[in-house]
Amino acid sequence: MVITAHPDDAEFTVAGTVGRWIKEGSHVVYVICTDGSRGSNDPQMPPTRMKVIRQAEQHEAARIVGVQTVVFLDYQDGTLQPTLELRRDLTRVVRRHKPDIVICQDPTARFYGNNYVNHPDHRAAGEAALYAVFPSAGTRFVFPELLEEGLEPHQVREIYLYGSPDPNIWVDISETIDLKIAALKAHCSQVNPDHVDTMLRTWNGEAGRRHGVPYAEEFKRMILAWEM
Ligand SMILES: [Zn+2]
Repeated sequence: MVITAHPDDAEFTVAGTVGRWIKEGSHVVYVICTDGSRGSNDPQMPPTRMKVIRQAEQHEAARIVGVQTVVFLDYQDGTLQPTLELRRDLTRVVRRHKPDIVICQDPTARFYGNNYVNHPDHRAAGEAALYAVFPSAGTRFVFPELLEEGLEPHQVREIYLYGSPDPNIWVDISETIDLKIAALKAHCSQVNPDHVDTMLRTWNGEAGRRHGVPYAEEFKRMILAWEM
């Protein structure tokens, strides 16, 4: 299960790993917290229309890499907070789909280099996702209303944090970089398709060079200790 703040976050960051795992037999669920409705500064583009466009783009991007299920939680884009309500909604999808691994944004990342402040929606989605996985999804009486919906506890085994300041694992995506590029190009309301190829080959090529492969994605991996 990949949990992101926005439509397009997975394609910028983890779609190479997702594509590889799907080729190896994984079933993948994308969970998008916000509706993407604020993704344009064009005064002629109302948020209600943007939302429809971005959800269609996300479905197409997911189809390209073979993601089987896409869930939208429809929180408002741009003002996401790591509330108990969001944590409960994420706990619900974790209990429903029972993933072995959850990939989410690293909520500790405030800055990237000297030119990018991490979007607060990314940090909010990452924090809510982490605490949905642990302890909420695996602990019976957190959110008892979920038990009434028939959703029993589920213990996720591993968390992969992306955009992490201190990654400890990498995945070779050399065979799925083309899929990742195609998937990001599906977000044509957000990216210039002419720039996508160079941008991803540069970013993932830099990560690849650190590990001796053409293209890589890096994560902070945690293996959860449920029994102490
Ligand atoms: Zn984003």
